[in-house]
Parts: sequence; structure tokens; C-alpha cells
Amino acid sequence: MSKQVLVVDDSIVMRNALEDVLVNAGFSVTTAPNGIEGLELMHSRKFDLLFLDIDMPNLSGLQVCRMLRNDPTFRAFPIIMLTARDKKKDEFWGLETGADAYLTKPFEPDKLLNTVDDVLEKIGQTPSLSEAADKLRGDEESKDLIFSAGEVQERQLFKMTLINRIFAIATTHRTLRDTCCALNHIYSSVIDYDIGMALITDDDAIKMFIFINKPINKDFLQATRNRIIEEFQDKTGRRIIRDNVEVIIEDPNHNILKVTEEKRILGFTSRLMEGKGEKFGVFCLSRAGAGPFNEDEMEMAAIISNQSNLVVDNIRMYEKIQRFAIADGLTGLYNHRYFQEQLEKEYSRARRFNLSLSLIMLDIDHFKRFNDKHGHQQGDVILKELARVTEQNVREIDLVARYGGEEFAIILPETPKHNVMVAAERIRTALEQHPFPHEPEPLHVTVSMGVSGYPDDNIETRLDLISKADLALYKAKREGRNRVCLYSTDLEVDIS
Ligand code: GH3
Ligand code: MG
Ligand code: MG
Repeated sequence: MSKQVLVVDDSIVMRNALEDVLVNAGFSVTTAPNGIEGLELMHSRKFDLLFLDIDMPNLSGLQVCRMLRNDPTFRAFPIIMLTARDKKKDEFWGLETGADAYLTKPFEPDKLLNTVDDVLEKIGQTPSLSEAADKLRGDEESKDLIFSAGEVQERQLFKMTLINRIFAIATTHRTLRDTCCALNHIYSSVIDYDIGMALITDDDAIKMFIFINKPINKDFLQATRNRIIEEFQDKTGRRIIRDNVEVIIEDPNHNILKVTEEKRILGFTSRLMEGKGEKFGVFCLSRAGAGPFNEDEMEMAAIISNQSNLVVDNIRMYEKIQRFAIADGLTGLYNHRYFQEQLEKEYSRARRFNLSLSLIMLDIDHFKRFNDKHGHQQGDVILKELARVTEQNVREIDLVARYGGEEFAIILPETPKHNVMVAAERIRTALEQHPFPHEPEPLHVTVSMGVSGYPDDNIETRLDLISKADLALYKAKREGRNRVCLYSTDLEVDIS
């Protein structure tokens, strides 16, 4: 049986010319003079190939093509555009719209027939698709064409609306947590599920966001958690150490542990989150009641996830930059600028609420000598390790910053100066005794510290705190290093 070709063109000359060539080559040809009749024929009869002109009254060939491609029945149907439009951008747009081949008028019969062979051969290699199309076509036969055209538009509009909402997140949300929360909101406004989870790498840390949309029990939560960890490892190729996962739960309606009856995972889908070539996370939807996700739900999940990748990746970068802006690149401690900001804040708080506030300036002893002996790189290793040990020896509310070079500053809120001696001595001893890793033998360094305190030391501004702690530090150096000195007024006399 010969192949059935539909030719849609508003020019009768062109329809006839094309019909001649195709019939001579053994095809059966039907023609239509405009897009609407073309579409009606496509929906009422079975064809093997469609020739589409672009410029036609009412419905253009581009519109016809787009409508066909939006319909699963014709997603893989062979379409050749034959048009007088000969610009590169027209060809680009024609193919972008979904045509399998793009030919310009006037056509050369041989070239045209070769293209027909190529297109039919290409489609012939995907039999499953044409079989599926045959099956679907049967179901759709009775469908009213105008209705289905309206439906296509509706779906497009729906998709555009989703995309707009996703991109709106980017302008209104400033943290990864808020962004994922908004994303869960979008998923859940079109797909019904019990728990949404995102597992996202953030530098070395891994964050797990859990959104509880419906009443659940502990087992269901646990099963979903295990499942997303598996999916994350499969999809990103990264391994997860459970202890490194920071868990953030969003449960505004207190749905967690609300039900006691057994809930099993019946529907589960996960989507890879990626950007700039990096696979950085997974977003999953999990449900008990409503059963497995259907094709339509999967498609919506795919749209949301594809469009949101960029948004989530951007917010990750944004958070990273924020972190860099307050962290010292070598030690990871707070940097000088952030230290000054925090000291100002703590100082005004201390004044306002009549609290005490102390400051330690810490400087490594003879560090120049150390560098000269062991090299600058080894010096850097010491700075990093020293930062870590110092942080381990202060309270949660104290702030350790790298002031510059081999100098560090420690802000101790709500601490009177006379209490600092104990804390400072603890740090000094810890550092003095700390074996800094080195072959063949560990290395040792000592530090000197100066302490100033509000309200004891005649402090008028935060800068006074710094300069007075500095004076005390000089004293500690002068008196032989590896010690802590408190500021006292006689030091002012000393220096002048
Ligand atoms: P003092 O006991 O009087 O503090 O002697 P010192 O040698 O530590 O003091 P000085 O201020 O003369 O020299 C500080 C040295 O710290 C100079 C520099 O080589 C070293 N240094 C500063 N910043 C860094 C850094 O980022 N990495 C390394 N490796 N060394 C640094
Ligand atoms: Mg110094
Ligand atoms: Mg020094």
C-alpha cells in the first residue's frame, strides 16, 4: 500500500506541482488549501507524512506545526515544511517549532524526494512512537478539533504560568530555605503529595529540607528520607555521610506524627537539580494515599524542576558569596570587616543595656622566624589550625575573627574584663600545648594576648576597645611573650 501524504498549501499551483512529483514517486496525495482544513484532515484520517506551507491565511504553518507537536498523537509524526521563506532564522524557527525538515520554494524534485526518504526513514526507526501514535489516534478520532486546539493553548498557558511563578521566586526569596519552601508550594499547588524533600549540597555541607504537606507518621517520614538519600546518591554520584546532613523541617500545620495508622510510599518521584554542569541535589515528592504519579503529574514535575534549576543554583551562589564576604579565605574565621561590624553592634548593645563587653587581641609569637624556618606554606597551615583550636576554646556566643596577618581578635559579649583572664589563659595554654601536625615531629607555637573591657577601661568607642587591647598586647610581648596582659591605665603613660 502506498504511503499517504497530506499537502497543505494555499497556492493551487504549488499543490498541483507537489502532487505531481509525489504521485510519480508512488505516494497517494491529499491536499488542503489552508491550515484549518489541514488540521481537520490530520485528525480525521490517517497519514504518513505532512507537507506544510508556512504563509497561509488564518492559521500559519508554524501554528499548525506547534499545535500538532503539542498533541502526543503527533509528537513524532513526520512533518516537512516547504516555504518561500528562505532566511536562516526562518529555517531555525521552522525546525524549532517541530518540523523534521525545512525546504524552500521553488523546490528541486530530486532533493525533495530525498528529503522525504530521509524523514520517513528516521521516523521508521522509532516504531514504538508511531505505534503509540496509531493507538492514540484511534482514541482521538472523535475529538472536536476546535476543542483540542483550545486545549493545546490552555496547556501552553498553564506551562507559561508555572514558569512565571518559578522565576518570581528568584526576585522575592533570598535564602535557599525560602526558595525550596516556595518551590514546594508550587509543586504542591499542581501535584498532590504528602512530603516534599530537597537534598542539596552546599559546599561541604548537605542540607535536607523536609516539607510536610499532610498528616504523616514517623515510618513514612523515615522511608521517604531513606529513599531520597538513595536517589541523591544514584543521580548525583555523590556519597552521603548521614552525620553531615543538616535537617530543616517545615511543618507549618503541625502534620508530623499526626496519624498513627500505617502509611506506605505508593507514589514517589525524584528530580535531579543541576546547574553549570554540577549535579547539586535532588527534589522528591512522596505520597501514600493517592497512589503512583501519573504521566501528567510527572510531566508537570519535570517542567517545574527543569525551570527551577537555574533559580535554585543562583540562590546557592548568592548564599556562597554572602558567606565569602564575611569569612576569611585562609582560616574560615570571620574577616576583618565583619569583625568591625559585629564589634560595633556588640558595643552599642553593651552601652544600651549596661552590659560588659571584652575584647582579646591575639598575636602569634615570633611568627616571622617561624616562616623563615619552616616556610610560608607551613605557616599557613599553622594559621588554619590555630584558628580551629582557638574556636574550640571559646563559648558559643564569643566571636573569633582574623584581624589580619597572624593577629586574631575575640569578642566576648557580656563578659567583664576580670573574668576574661581565665578564658584567655585557657586559649593560651591550649595553643601552647597543641601539637601542630608536621613530619618528623609536631611543631609548637605560642601566642601573646592583650585584653580590654567595657565599661572598665574608659572606653568611648569600639576603636578604644581595639587600641587598648593592642596596648596590652604590646605589654605581653615586651614582658617576654606567651602570656596574657590586661589593659591598665598606666600603659597609656608608658607609650607616650
Ligand atoms: P612577634 O612575636 O613580635 O609578634 O613577632 P612576629 O615575627 O610574629 O611579628 P611580626 O609582626 O614582625 O611578623 C609577623 C609575621 O607574620 C610576618 C609574616 O611573615 C607572618 N604572616 C603574616 N600573615 C601571614 C600569613 O597569612 N601566612 C603566613 N604564613 N605568615 C604570615
Ligand atoms: Mg603581628
Ligand atoms: Mg607575631
